[in-house]
Amino acid sequence: MDFNDSPEEAQFREQVRAWLQTHAQPKERRDQRFGEGLDESAYLSAARAWQAKKAAAGYAAIPWPRAMGGLGGTPAMQVVYDQEESNYLVPAHVFEVSLGTALPTVAMWGSDEQKQRYLALALSGQDIWCQLFSEPAAGSDIGNVRTRAERTDSGWLVNGQKVWTSGAHNAAYGILLARTNWDQPKTKGLSMFVVDMTSPGIDVRPIHQASGDKHFNEVFFTDVQLPADALLGPENQGWKVMMSTLMQERFSLGEHFSGGLYRDLILLAQQATFNNRPAIDSERVRDGIVDNYLADFGIELIVRRGMSAISKGESPGPEMALVKLVGARAMQTGGTLARELAGGQGLLSAEDLGSQWHLPFLLWISAPGARIAGGTDEIQRNTIAERVLGLPGEIRTDRDVPFKDL
Ligand SMILES: Cc1cc2nc3c(=O)[nH]c(=O)nc-3n(C[C@H](O)[C@H](O)[C@H](O)COP(=O)(O)OP(=O)(O)OC[C@H]3O[C@@H](n4cnc5c(N)ncnc54)[C@H](O)[C@@H]3O)c2cc1C
Repeated sequence: MDFNDSPEEAQFREQVRAWLQTHAQPKERRDQRFGEGLDESAYLSAARAWQAKKAAAGYAAIPWPRAMGGLGGTPAMQVVYDQEESNYLVPAHVFEVSLGTALPTVAMWGSDEQKQRYLALALSGQDIWCQLFSEPAAGSDIGNVRTRAERTDSGWLVNGQKVWTSGAHNAAYGILLARTNWDQPKTKGLSMFVVDMTSPGIDVRPIHQASGDKHFNEVFFTDVQLPADALLGPENQGWKVMMSTLMQERFSLGEHFSGGLYRDLILLAQQATFNNRPAIDSERVRDGIVDNYLADFGIELIVRRGMSAISKGESPGPEMALVKLVGARAMQTGGTLARELAGGQGLLSAEDLGSQWHLPFLLWISAPGARIAGGTDEIQRNTIAERVLGLPGEIRTDRDVPFKDL
């Protein structure tokens, strides 16, 4: 295992640094975010412009072949780019689903015609994509999908409902998991489709979150007609197509959690008081900070292990599930400690308290979602139990039963 850049990676890092220095503004503080105060449409425009710039320089999808709009680089070079870009004030997250999961799925499973039609426009920031998998009764158990796609003379007719669809309100296209065969067992009768989100019969309803954001949506499909060439990958092989998407998601989500929150907590504990004494003198506060540091250190090592595998052209192992499991919980316990350190003022927003509270409060409010998105804590535990520790698998009684009989 080698945690250092290879000579090629080091050279690429220099090249990326030089490009970023010319095209973006470095962050002055670690918690500084692009576009504070911008409304959603201005933020979207800035994100599209930044994406177009990256695409022109070949940095939009580094490991993809040049013919597909990439740089023909390695996955490790993508990690190097992402690490360097995180030091700059650039719009983040708008293309996370597009580039992190939807487009890699199109690139992997799409026909030549589909790749030609969709990839370049999405890479250059014109089209945003969403991922239409989860339903009210199909989340962790995604094989329960009930949205129905029936063959017609001209293509497919879709009816059903999706939920928690991130960014659907801004998306031009989505990848949709739907049931095409009800006589097959749950994971066997699914197919993946490309959906034009402006198709008649699609109703996108934003979900208002406690944080004030409207990040995700319910999406209703009523007699939506899809053309025959909307199928992505083979008919009834949607499970296989989806698993390739989720493997991408697991690793891209894992990159967010190694945050160094303990450093913020030390600074805050030095300023705050508990019972008229400096909070840093409290054993409970010190324990909380050390727990956060240990979680962070463990995550860092596992992420580096994953990167080392990528650097050697291998896939990161199932132990990557620990990154999200431990990281999201550390976000929540560390964020809660920061709220306690703020005392009565903890009810105020980070904007009212000052910039040093920004990151801990942001992590605190994002943590519950992070513990669910991309596989809940319990599902990560199942993965670790079965695939890392080799414990017996969960009992699955519905595996071979036709879906219509479940
Ligand atoms: C921020 C965010 C963004 C999201 N974005 C998208 C998106 O863009 N597209 C999309 O399709 N979906 C998206 N989702 C949905 C997400 O994939 C699901 O919420 C997640 O898979 C869990 O499904 P669920 O909400 O139906 O909960 P359920 O699966 O109903 O789980 C409920 C509870 O039961 C537990 N549980 C379930 N099964 C087991 C088991 N086998 N063993 C032990 N415990 C179990 C769970 O851990 C959980 O505590 C997003 C979610 C969040 C929070």
